[in-house]
Amino acid sequence: MVILDGKKTSEDIKNEIAKAVKNRKNEGKKTPHLAAVLVGSDGASMTYVNSKVKACEKVGFNSTLIELPENTTEDQLLDEIKDLNKDKNIDGFIIQLPLPKQINEQKVLMAVDPNKDVDGFHPVNVGKMALDLSTFLPATPYGILELLERYDIETSGKNVVVIGRSHIVGRPMSILMSQKRKVGNATVTLAHSRTSNLKEITAKADIIVAALGIPEFLKGDMVKDGVVVVDVGITRVKDDTKKRGYRLAGDVDFNSVSPKSAYITPVPGGVGPMTIAMLLKNTLLACERNES
Ligand code: NAD
Repeated sequence: MVILDGKKTSEDIKNEIAKAVKNRKNEGKKTPHLAAVLVGSDGASMTYVNSKVKACEKVGFNSTLIELPENTTEDQLLDEIKDLNKDKNIDGFIIQLPLPKQINEQKVLMAVDPNKDVDGFHPVNVGKMALDLSTFLPATPYGILELLERYDIETSGKNVVVIGRSHIVGRPMSILMSQKRKVGNATVTLAHSRTSNLKEITAKADIIVAALGIPEFLKGDMVKDGVVVVDVGITRVKDDTKKRGYRLAGDVDFNSVSPKSAYITPVPGGVGPMTIAMLLKNTLLACERNES
């Protein structure tokens, strides 16, 4: 069993990005600048945003964190987005999800300039992704593709099962894996909450991407020997033995699945750090595109 080390791989990618930024600076070109908007004070969201900002600093990007109160109205957030769309200094920006319930998430994501949509959530970018045109790929699926590629994992002709059909992970993952691309050409099954006989489906899978948000859902008796397992789940599970009062759990029961796996991602240290690295990659791409 080989651990797909997202922490190390993401460090490699960040080093490559840092080198590119250094070269840009030496050539007198613009320093990439990512902005992140956080509405409210949800603990997990604050942790994610802060790690994104920290990652920007590490690769030499400029970063701006815009923190808005929990009671921000939809109009106020839309005004903030208008300003970011216009700001020539900002190459790309993200709106940290989830948003408070008074704000329509879809409306907000639609307001982001597709050229600055480094999360790849705008319908224009989702459409381009589905048509295999050059665009910003959503960071989590992009990170998974990159991890599989850097570990030389063959996907062509393989049976891939993606569990979870969210707009940000499961659905784009299923589309990308079926495309004619280096990491792709797979026969994909997209499973979700209404899928029946999931165990029969996962037992035939060569590669499983678990993205459903139910801790330790995928068990050893649901997979075949030699399977490749990518665990996207991150759930905070109460744990009084930890100083912070919780532990992070993936969607895969690592103890029973890992002995049967050829490759498996850990949680933490798997898909999470890859997501941040690919957000940085998209920001660099946005910066390069905006100047041409
Ligand atoms: P979501 O919560 O929006 O949707 C969950 C999906 O799982 C739904 O499509 C649903 O149909 C499916 N599902 C629910 N119960 C199921 C069942 N019993 N069998 C099969 N399918 C079932 O999903 P999301 O936003 O993609 O998040 C999934 C998990 O991934 C969460 O734990 C989230 O925190 C994590 N996540 C991690 C990263 C990262 O960078 N590592 C990024 C995004 C999300």
